[in-house]
Amino acid sequence: MTPPVIYDPAGIDFDRPGKHHYNVAFHLDSSWGYSLVPLTVINGQRGSSAGSRGVVAFGGTHGNEWEGQVAVKRLCRDLDPAEISGCVILIPQLSQSACVANTRISPLDGVNMNRAFPGSPRGTISYRISNFVKTRVFPKVQVVLDIHSGGNEGGFPICTSFHPIPDPKLRAEIAEVAALFDTPFIMIYSSQMASGLLTDEAEAERKVTIGGEFGFGESVNRWGTLHAYEGIKNVLRHYRMLPGKPVKIDRRRSTRPRVVQAPNLEDYVPCPRDGIWEPLVDLGGEVKQGDLLGRLHDFGDHTAEPLELRAHRTGVVLMMHFPAESAKGVTLYVIAEDVQEKT
Ligand SMILES: [Zn+2]
Repeated sequence: MTPPVIYDPAGIDFDRPGKHHYNVAFHLDSSWGYSLVPLTVINGQRGSSAGSRGVVAFGGTHGNEWEGQVAVKRLCRDLDPAEISGCVILIPQLSQSACVANTRISPLDGVNMNRAFPGSPRGTISYRISNFVKTRVFPKVQVVLDIHSGGNEGGFPICTSFHPIPDPKLRAEIAEVAALFDTPFIMIYSSQMASGLLTDEAEAERKVTIGGEFGFGESVNRWGTLHAYEGIKNVLRHYRMLPGKPVKIDRRRSTRPRVVQAPNLEDYVPCPRDGIWEPLVDLGGEVKQGDLLGRLHDFGDHTAEPLELRAHRTGVVLMMHFPAESAKGVTLYVIAEDVQEKT
């Protein structure tokens, strides 16, 4: 039996005990029909939920990023309300129309869900979905987990991420929760690259907010999916919403996640001209200032010298454009630096 269609999102009872699956209907802008956004709400029946923190996990904020969609979908089935204490909300395909199309942005209105916050009840479909999240979902939770990956642009080593957080107490809690995903890296990234992010909105509401890149290439990275799936469960264990202690996810690595930051726009280097990008370093690899990172080729003249790109600083390659074709202006790579952060 498919989950019931909810035509009026205001009618969802987020406090109903047990586990309930829904398809939330957002009407199309240009024809009859709906985007049916999958939603699962669990109000646990284990002990008292007094003092427990609500948690929401999103997949598919970008449609061509699959690890979060798969991990959150599996949790919709696997989490047992008899074992849960408190409220868990799961949305495996937030930009459902983009997920169906395997595209970053919604083909219905051309809007990037991760730039559509806080949304509007009278906007196009992506703005109405983001406004539903802002007005109906966020008030029920204190912890917001938004699982991304690199789509068809950015290659990343698997990482969780958050923006610089001015309040040291909140920052420490966010760093602690980010480490529960046990990814090789935790990246603190610039807030200046874009606005209207889901995580921006949650951070502005002072929620414990975690983003992250769990793979790339429009695939389902098995390690990324494992880190997302077990990481979300670790967050529930950490807040005593699931029994037991957080578990070690990657047993191949004995170290804790390495915390790096790229807070300045200068560390997000744009491609200087159109070309074919030949990378010469690994994702997550160490580079020294002046190291050759890659070559940009122009096949208009196969005898032409490639343009060599060299590291502007010493650090870790936290992102690199992975398709061969690289357009002038696209972010080609990000070099981050280590930061001391207690996790
Ligand atoms: Zn994304």
